[in-house]
Amino acid sequence: MLVDCRNWKGYEMSLTIRKVVVLGLIGSILLLGNILLVASWLAERGVVDWAQGIRAEYLTGTAVTIIAVLLILLVSPRARSAGVLRRCPVCDHGLVGRGRYCGECGSRV
Ligand SMILES: [Zn+2]
Repeated sequence: MLVDCRNWKGYEMSLTIRKVVVLGLIGSILLLGNILLVASWLAERGVVDWAQGIRAEYLTGTAVTIIAVLLILLVSPRARSAGVLRRCPVCDHGLVGRGRYCGECGSRV
């Protein structure tokens, strides 16, 4: 009885999975068709060049941001441990030494 129940559940599961796979396939085919339609429509209107330019600029900006963040992450701990090249979070005044307070505005750093 227990085995029958489990088998029935497994059968139902595989049916659901099959339904999901078929629906996913249909959905992706429809989506692909739409993308091709939109792409050809854009190519007809000469928007693709413009879009590619935007994308290239966006990618360059993203790459620059990632490099900047990596540099900050690489440099920041060293600067902190050395106790130099810190900046006040309030007035952005450069701090030399290991003082806990900013010499310019007196804020705790
Ligand atoms: Zn300050």
